[in-house]
Amino acid sequence: MLKVDLAKLGREDSLALDERVPAEAELWRETGPKFEGPLIVELQVRSTASGQVLVQGRLAGRVLQQCRRCLEGITLELDREVYFVFAPSNELEVEPGDEVYELPTRARELDLTSAVREEVVLTTPVYGVCREGCRGLCPRCGQNWNENDCDCALEEPDPRWDALRALNEE
Ligand SMILES: [Zn+2]
Ligand SMILES: [Zn+2]
Repeated sequence: MLKVDLAKLGREDSLALDERVPAEAELWRETGPKFEGPLIVELQVRSTASGQVLVQGRLAGRVLQQCRRCLEGITLELDREVYFVFAPSNELEVEPGDEVYELPTRARELDLTSAVREEVVLTTPVYGVCREGCRGLCPRCGQNWNENDCDCALEEPDPRWDALRALNEE
């Protein structure tokens, strides 16, 4: 799906890739984030005189996250500019970097799936915060403090009494 025909790229120097990766696609199956709707992939692919392939463009979609405080589901608008460099393996050490990938030798297609997947997985946390002042859940009874208070705080024993009790018991 996210593949570039390298022979065609050789003839045309530049290709546009415009894809929609469905939320249920194979590439998200193992560790990927959950999407609401497809991931929009708009990339421009260019080949350079030195045999590199440069991929530049945008990834956009709606990611389903959980609030780390109250565990409510939230939606994150993902919209990222991306830039990947694919270099032949003998050049890899010349240009080290986070976003330099190995360009397979004598391949007919360049598969962008893992680069796109990695980019999304590494930049998209599973948890977010639903709103600035989210009060979270009571650690004792699980009450969502955004909705209601609970009585747990009142029952919390005062640590000073514990200290006195310890003295009395000695
Ligand atoms: Zn929250
Ligand atoms: Zn409580």
